Amino acid sequence: MKKNNTLKTQKRILILSGILIFLFSLLIGRIAYIQFIDGNRLSKEAIEQQTRDRMINAKRGTIYDRNGKQLAVSADVETVNLSPATVREDGDPQKCADVLSQVLKMERETILEKINSNVSYVMVKRKVEKEQADAIREAGLTGVYMDADTKRYYPYNNIASHIIGFTGTDNQGLLGIEQKYDNILKGQYGRIVTARNADGTEMPYKYDRYYTPEDGSDITLTIDVSIQHFLEKHLDQALTDLQLANGAAGIIMDVKTGEILAMATKPDFDLNEPLLVTDPAEKQRIEAISDSTERGNATQEYLNKLWRNKAVVDSYEPGSTFKIITSAMALEENVVSLQDSFNCTGSYKVAKETIGCWKHAGHGVLNLTGALMNSCNPAFMQIGARIGQDTFYKYYKGFGFTEKTGIELYGETSGIFYPAGSFNEVELATASFGQGPVVTPLQMISAISAVANDGKLMKPHLLKNITDAGGTILQSFDPVEIRQVISPQTSQIMRGLMEAVVSEGTGNKAYLEGFRIGGKTGTSEKIPRGNSKYVASFAGIAPANDPQVAILLLLDEPPVGNHMGGTIASPLAAKILDDVLRYMDIEPELPDGEAVEGDAEVPSVSGMNLTEARQIISQSGLRCVVEGNGSVVNAQVPNPGVVIARNGTVIVYTGDARPSNSVQVPSVIEKSFEEAKSILEKAKFQFNPTGIENTTQNAVAQSQSITPGEYATIGSEITVEFSYQTATPPQTES
Ligand SMILES: [Zn+2]
Repeated sequence: MKKNNTLKTQKRILILSGILIFLFSLLIGRIAYIQFIDGNRLSKEAIEQQTRDRMINAKRGTIYDRNGKQLAVSADVETVNLSPATVREDGDPQKCADVLSQVLKMERETILEKINSNVSYVMVKRKVEKEQADAIREAGLTGVYMDADTKRYYPYNNIASHIIGFTGTDNQGLLGIEQKYDNILKGQYGRIVTARNADGTEMPYKYDRYYTPEDGSDITLTIDVSIQHFLEKHLDQALTDLQLANGAAGIIMDVKTGEILAMATKPDFDLNEPLLVTDPAEKQRIEAISDSTERGNATQEYLNKLWRNKAVVDSYEPGSTFKIITSAMALEENVVSLQDSFNCTGSYKVAKETIGCWKHAGHGVLNLTGALMNSCNPAFMQIGARIGQDTFYKYYKGFGFTEKTGIELYGETSGIFYPAGSFNEVELATASFGQGPVVTPLQMISAISAVANDGKLMKPHLLKNITDAGGTILQSFDPVEIRQVISPQTSQIMRGLMEAVVSEGTGNKAYLEGFRIGGKTGTSEKIPRGNSKYVASFAGIAPANDPQVAILLLLDEPPVGNHMGGTIASPLAAKILDDVLRYMDIEPELPDGEAVEGDAEVPSVSGMNLTEARQIISQSGLRCVVEGNGSVVNAQVPNPGVVIARNGTVIVYTGDARPSNSVQVPSVIEKSFEEAKSILEKAKFQFNPTGIENTTQNAVAQSQSITPGEYATIGSEITVEFSYQTATPPQTES
């Protein structure tokens, strides 16, 4: 397509890419600034050295996922300090050096230097675990003191690393939510103030006054750590399998509320070790640099790239995924109807430019559905011309592509487009099929959600609420509707079109049996063109008839030859959505009868976490009932291997719940089929009817395999024998 662009367009794109590179370097500069010029810590240490006052870190607030799972927590640790004069005059410097160097694994010389220093107070080591601090206390060293401190832990390591962020040595947030909401999370420093006598001399340590620190507030995110895990698991796999040279990004959003359920960038990093260079090749390259300053710069450059949240910072050309947006504009403006037809001869002439379709032979005559399904560029150039420049721009802006979404993270970019009224006919034509607009993944998923969500553009957000240390909600964040972009009627048509693309068109590798998925793939050549660097993407919604989630996947620089969105992004979307929809308990819609036919073998789920167990039970065609409040399955009924009717129930026990042997079997004798089924299922027994032929109508239970009133393990199968009650009693001869 490159040869078809006007020189002017190429020049403009080059300028735009220059601006992009400039924006990235600004952001990198900012991260480096925060990392190295850490004013907070410097000023605190200055105060501590000049006076004997010591500041005590407050306990930093916890970051939770939407279900209360801890994503970032602070644990109590201690800071070991010593008063050199006290150790020298009243204590035992040699013993002090022995004990501290041994317990804290520090050089003995270093400790002695501190003991011999000429300050009133010196810090020996921060973030000392409780066991070590206890060992020092037990040694009873005069002049050595311990202050409370906290240390940050990230229980899920790499999961959601770009969103959560991490903290520096002094508990200050350096990335992600940790950085953006540092003020809320960090709380207030406490302080130990050295008491002085009336004549100004310092009083002994025990008279110090202690000002309690004030704990930070907790933050609950909209992220669901299970959905995040599904997204990351498949993105990680794609990164390796597809050999993506520049990583990948993905977002899953609640279509109706704008809540971000998952957002990931690959490769990622362990939040507990954010400064490690983990990539073996990069590690080797950096370690080979002899100059230490240059080595430091190379490390920082590597880390800055690794820490960049591609989903909100990177922008890309949406390519054919943008045809969804163009279609929505055209339908809303009534310039195109579903009956209109467009002719594709393999190329299309706009002004003096001839622009080709990907199918050189041409698509022939297509309606809008066909144009979208076949991703036909000439059809969309014609549609774009009908929309016109001003209207196109109005909707482009309306869908939120000209501004930042305001997501609660630093570094968001706003994308790039031609200024209103300043793009020519050719630029309008190419923009109509997704070449020219430069958008962020977050903008794109928000716009796709608006198309599916009855036309309402919701503000994407990551925060659910802020609570104080006692659990009281201080602030909660409700969904925010930015504007109505298209009508609910147009939205409904678009949902159908998006579903048609996935079930029959170029997106069909995203097709999932039983689930109704809508969406579109895209492949765009990166700017500057001609370097054979591509971005493959998928933008979609599910279920298409009643959208709950939107998904956006971006695969950056797949190897040429395997770089098409339809080939690599669609199947990936299908795998992720399969996990997500089952987890969300969205039932597959199977054709009538298919779901209830046949038998199913009960799978073994004991020992699994609940999410996994639910998924496996559902995949076996069975239903899952959960007993107890835990997250790990410790028992199940029926036992694995038992064959029961498809759609039957498997009870899983979590937490303290255990299968009970003392449930009384209810009577279903003389009950109808529906009544018997309902009674037994309510009592948590497996219902196994026999004697049923063509219909359950007029069937009456005659006997049951376990006598009513007996006790049986819940989940046990109870066979019920039915016979048909005739509507009128048989006539007897008289
Ligand atoms: Zn075509």
